[in-house]
Order: sequence, then structure tokens, then C-alpha cells
Amino acid sequence: MCGVIGILKEEGVQYDIALALQAIQHRGQDSCGIATKENKKFFLEKDDGLVSSVFTPSTLASFQGNIGMGHVRYPTMGSAGKVNAQPFFEKQPGIFITHNGNIINYHELRKRFLEESLYLTSSCDVEPVLYVLAEELMNIRKYGHTTEDLTAALKKTYQRVRGAFTIVGIMYLDGEDTMFACRDPYGIRPGVWGEQEGSFMVASESVAMEMTGFEYRGDIPNGSLMVFKKGKKPLTVEIDVKEHRPCIFEYIYFARPDSIISGHSVYDTRLVLGRMLAEKIKRKGIRVDVVIPVPDTARPAATAIAEELDVPVRDGFIKNRYSGRTFIMPSQYDREFAMRLKHNTIEGEFKDKRVLIIDDSIVRGTTTKHIVSLVGRSQPKELHIGIFSPPVYYPCYYGIDISRQHELIARKYSDCYKEGIDHFEEKMAHFTGADSLTYLDIPDIRKALGQPVCAACFDGDYPLPLKEDEQRSIENDRDEYQKC
Ligand code: SF4
Repeated sequence: MCGVIGILKEEGVQYDIALALQAIQHRGQDSCGIATKENKKFFLEKDDGLVSSVFTPSTLASFQGNIGMGHVRYPTMGSAGKVNAQPFFEKQPGIFITHNGNIINYHELRKRFLEESLYLTSSCDVEPVLYVLAEELMNIRKYGHTTEDLTAALKKTYQRVRGAFTIVGIMYLDGEDTMFACRDPYGIRPGVWGEQEGSFMVASESVAMEMTGFEYRGDIPNGSLMVFKKGKKPLTVEIDVKEHRPCIFEYIYFARPDSIISGHSVYDTRLVLGRMLAEKIKRKGIRVDVVIPVPDTARPAATAIAEELDVPVRDGFIKNRYSGRTFIMPSQYDREFAMRLKHNTIEGEFKDKRVLIIDDSIVRGTTTKHIVSLVGRSQPKELHIGIFSPPVYYPCYYGIDISRQHELIARKYSDCYKEGIDHFEEKMAHFTGADSLTYLDIPDIRKALGQPVCAACFDGDYPLPLKEDEQRSIENDRDEYQKC
């Protein structure tokens, strides 16, 4: 999972990019990068670490140009580290690109390039996409490319590259510096655009626009290319459009609540999911005195649940703001270490009460188990858990780090899972040490946005089918990474 930014405006574009990247820092903490362009000069800086530590005032002062892009990375293909940090650059025809997502035929593309003695400099999956696009552009003409050339080259690229992605690029087109952005045919990964007096911005989340004074205009349409030139109306061209299926996990966990994705407020969607879960908790006859969210993602859903159950919602957990997101940490060792740092409890909010703890999801089970043991010290009378998503039973191959089946706690108890959700909820309550555990049902999650979604990690209905060897190579890639 990563975050992308692209901006076309006046001088000093690098400062807006750095600000916007900080607004979406939650999407990746491993490495970051900024690239800008001024006439025939290209500027690029990328490194391990957070935006605020990599891009100091003196680093930013070394950039020039009125067009640029930025990236925050969390590895879902390839290893961590500077070598895989984005953006990537190709000299001919002079193009920068960066992406958020997973290229599912990455290993096939890499193999083909190696057979032709074209060596990749990284194991990041956007690098072969850049070479495919550059190759298709150079097949059309060697220099003086036009928007029509880019459209034709992208059509060919979409035939060769399969995956869930939002790509941002900059290059010289029709005799001027141009920014472009495109999304995969299903629009699985998010991508939005905005405007400010003839200047343009694209981003993974709309919140980046609010931070930089751009006005959110809408989605980059799925399967389409958008081309932005200073002072001109953006051009939208369909490349390969299928049914729009945005990732529901963005709304559950990943995106900031103050973002709008695919026209839906993340905050409002979490309220809807909370109300749906409250209905199920009521049907089960669970009675509680207080609702306590696991900070920060679960707060809107917990508020909605408390309203529906007519009980107070309280802050029982205090989160260490500097410990990072445990799920985003790449290895199990990092995650467990970070979790110990992450939460503490306010004893009085739990002691002698029937407590309902709300969290967004259970992937590996370690966080939930840790939270229950932490709360146990405060001696609640009863401890119930509500999860505003269904069990994660299938891996994600589209750019969220849940790509290894054997890591998923639902897979570890798959016999129970297959017996039905009631059995599985009992099993998970036992595993975590809670009195009860309630998941949201799959049909609810599919109804939440009022439009088709990707919910494949819950029900296995993958919008973009994968071949067996593609699945295996993505899982092996992650296994190798964990070993490192
Ligand atoms: S499989 Fe799950 S996490 Fe992956 S894109 Fe689909 S909904 Fe999102």
C-alpha cells in the first residue's frame, strides 16, 4: 500500500508535494520520494524514512520546476529500502512514473526483460511498467511525443501489464510539460484529482488537496487516462474500462476518515458499517454498559454503534502517537514490538463494566489478542468485541499487505470458518479471550457503498482474476521479504 501525489502549478511545486505527502503518510512509512521537472532538467530525491525526515528545507530548496510527483511507500512487492523507493525515471523518452498498487504479472514482465538483457535496478513492480510504457512510446516515435502517442502507448501497456494500480506520470507532451494519471480497469486502488485556478493535483486521497489549497473535483475514472496541462481543461480518455470495484478495505481501515474516495466519504462509510454491526449485536442479545473504540480507525463506527445501543462511547485506550501503525509494519517482529508500545488503557473505563470494544478488522489476530490481555488487567465485568468487517479469509493480491494465506488467522481456524460464522465467532472469542466476538456479515460489507466493490479478501470474488502462478509468485515474494 502506498500513496501518490502529482502537482502541476507555479514554481515551488516541491513544497506542496512534501506537504501533501505528509497528509497521506499513513499510506506508507518505509520510504518516500519526490521528482520534479523544469524544461529539460529532471530532479529526483528518494530515501528510507518519513517525509519530514527525508525532505528537509535544504533538500527541498534543491528542486526546481512547476510540475512534479511524490510517493510514500509501504512494500507489498519487493523489499523495503531506498533501492525500491519511488518515483522511477527512464531517460528515453524522459518520463517519471510512480504508482500505488500491485502489478500481478510483475514476475512475468521481469523475466521477459531479463531474457532481452534489460536489467532492472530494483524489485519494485512499477519499474517494469515504466519500461513497457517507454518501449511502447519509443515504438511510436523517438521524440516529440503527443497526447495521442501516450494514449496509444498506454492502450498497449494495459494489454501487457495486469494489476490494481493508480499511476502518476510526468513527461514532455505536445511541446509542454504534462502530468498524467491513470487507474486500472476496475479502479481498485483509489485516485482523485483537484484544481486550483488552472493548476492541477492528483492524489491517492482527497485529504491531500485540502492541505494544499486544491479543490477536490472527483475520481480519476477507472480504466482511464487523465492528462493535465497548465491552464487547460483536463482531458479524459478511456483506455480499458471494466466495472468500477473500489477496494472496500480503504474505507474500513486504510484511508483517512476525512478523505473522499470514489465519491464516498470514508467517515460516513464507517458510520454506516457501525450501524450495520450494531444491528447484528442487538440481534445476538448482547447487552453492554459502554462502547470503547480501538483508536483511531474505529472511532466513527464505535460512535454509531453506541448511538444505536443507547450507551456512552468512551476513550478507554490511549494511543502512543509515535509508535506507527502495527499493520503497516513489514515484519511480524516489528509488528509485535510496535504493538507493545502502541496502546495503554484507562482502567476506570473498563473496571466492573460490560464493555464492547470496537475494532476495524482482524487479519493476523495478534493485535486483538494483545488488546484483550491489556484490558483484562483492568478487570471488566464482561468483555465483548465488535469488528466492523467480516473475517479476512482470502489474501489480497492488489496492494494491501495481506497476501499470504498462512498468516491469516481465519485460515488457521478454517475448519471452524467453514462451519459458519457463528462457530467462527465463538472460536475467535475463545482465541482472543473475550466473552463474545461479532463480525460484520459479508452481504453488509457489499451493501455499504451502494455500488459494486472489491471485497475479495472477505469472499474470494476477485474482480481481476489471477493465474495460479501469479498468486504463488506474489506469496513467495512476500515470504522472501519476511525472511530478509
Ligand atoms: S482484496 Fe480486500 S484489501 Fe485487496 S483490494 Fe480487494 S477489498 Fe481491498
